[in-house]
Amino acid sequence: MGFSKLKIPRVCEYCSKPFEAKTVMTRFCSISCNNKAAKENKTIEKERVEKLTLLKNYAIKIAEVQSREFISVSEATVMFGISKDTVHRYIKRGIITGVNLGSRLTRVKRSDLEDLFSSVEIPDESKVEQNKPTFEIGTCYTISEIGEKFHADLSTVNRIIKRNKIPTKKVGSFVYVPKDLIDKIFEGK
Ligand SMILES: [Zn+2]
Repeated sequence: MGFSKLKIPRVCEYCSKPFEAKTVMTRFCSISCNNKAAKENKTIEKERVEKLTLLKNYAIKIAEVQSREFISVSEATVMFGISKDTVHRYIKRGIITGVNLGSRLTRVKRSDLEDLFSSVEIPDESKVEQNKPTFEIGTCYTISEIGEKFHADLSTVNRIIKRNKIPTKKVGSFVYVPKDLIDKIFEGK
């Protein structure tokens, strides 16, 4: 591709200064901007790779811990969301099997803990997304429907909604409230 005799007006992708480009492919006003942009890209790529590696190592570590029959006390605290004291108390009481391999080298049987607790779930963004309230027909109560169903007066219903920060949607003179959230609260009472 030869150089065009025309000068092409452009804005530098790095410094945002207008300049006249020699070819349609030119993206930067100067070699300096070109180099800086390349360097920045390299840094971003490096950070991306580092983050991926970290995530991968984390996943490997979890998988590795999950495949072992005996885990350390600190691994137990992370996996099951309990304190070290709790782990030691359970060992003492014989609720879980503990093996002492030396000072600070207590190992506990993972399956014993699994029987007692479910492992801590790492929140998954797609799941969080699903928890957004929907206000579709059939998935909501009106305030008076809640009052009727759960035998509560309307001011109580309103107070509960406010206190639990339940999202509502006003349509005309009706206030709609997601059924699942209301059911959870009233049935949990
Ligand atoms: Zn520039």
